[in-house]
Amino acid sequence: MKTFRRIGLAAVFLLVGALALIRKLALSPDPSRLKSGLERRLARLLRRPLTRQNFLLPDGSLFTVYTLDLVESNAYLLVTDAGVTLVDAGSPLMAELILDYLVEIGRTDLRLIYITHPHGDHYGSAAEVRRRTGAPIAAFATGAIEMDAGMSRLGSIRGRRRLSRLLLPIMEPALQAEPAAPDILLDGGARLDEYGLPATALYTPGHTLACTTLLIDGGLAFVGDLLSSNRTPHIQSWYAQDWGKLMPSVRRLADRAPRLLFPGHGARPLTQSELDDLCRGDRG
Ligand SMILES: [Zn+2]
Repeated sequence: MKTFRRIGLAAVFLLVGALALIRKLALSPDPSRLKSGLERRLARLLRRPLTRQNFLLPDGSLFTVYTLDLVESNAYLLVTDAGVTLVDAGSPLMAELILDYLVEIGRTDLRLIYITHPHGDHYGSAAEVRRRTGAPIAAFATGAIEMDAGMSRLGSIRGRRRLSRLLLPIMEPALQAEPAAPDILLDGGARLDEYGLPATALYTPGHTLACTTLLIDGGLAFVGDLLSSNRTPHIQSWYAQDWGKLMPSVRRLADRAPRLLFPGHGARPLTQSELDDLCRGDRG
């Protein structure tokens, strides 16, 4: 039995190592033929029907959210009359797929790439999308050092997750991303109107110390990895740089009474009543 366990563990290490090698290739800023060929193949393989939701903003104008399933994480295209914003940019090698979706919705006026936090599965393709569209990258100021270095700091693991704890030393290198120094350094409360987005960056640290939630006027929230709808709705329960800051962040968000919350992981948005339940139960 012990031998099987060792073989299983070795297989997991090999798999994570192989993924890290593929990522290494993706980190090259020069668009090599191998890299762009791989991106095109992935774009064909991973293309899914887009989920579209329409909302009315307080001024009566239309606001459309497209959910992009980028396998390891979600990204979102937010469309207003004034332009398009990309919320998070997936892992490395996702740029071609993101650009294909922009073509599909018939909008090439990407004005902003908003990154919720400096983890490689959320900003991995940000530099490539910026190169190919000219859109600037916005992120919370204190995460700029990590993004400029292509790093992902995971912090600590909660609970009895022995395998995750064993894998932690290789997970951070495996989440490496192409360096993507932000062009716009956000602080808590920053407004984004000048990029065609009626929204505020709400500082919601815990999972990382540079997490923000993008709060759209009218009550939509893009929460990154603060909350998840994987299986059942929950507060971040896996990795955090500061577990003590998570719950106050969730409560600060709940105080703003968002009616729908779009997570970085999970197939559907959370509702306001689910957020209230999480606040009451302190589940995580
Ligand atoms: Zn994360």
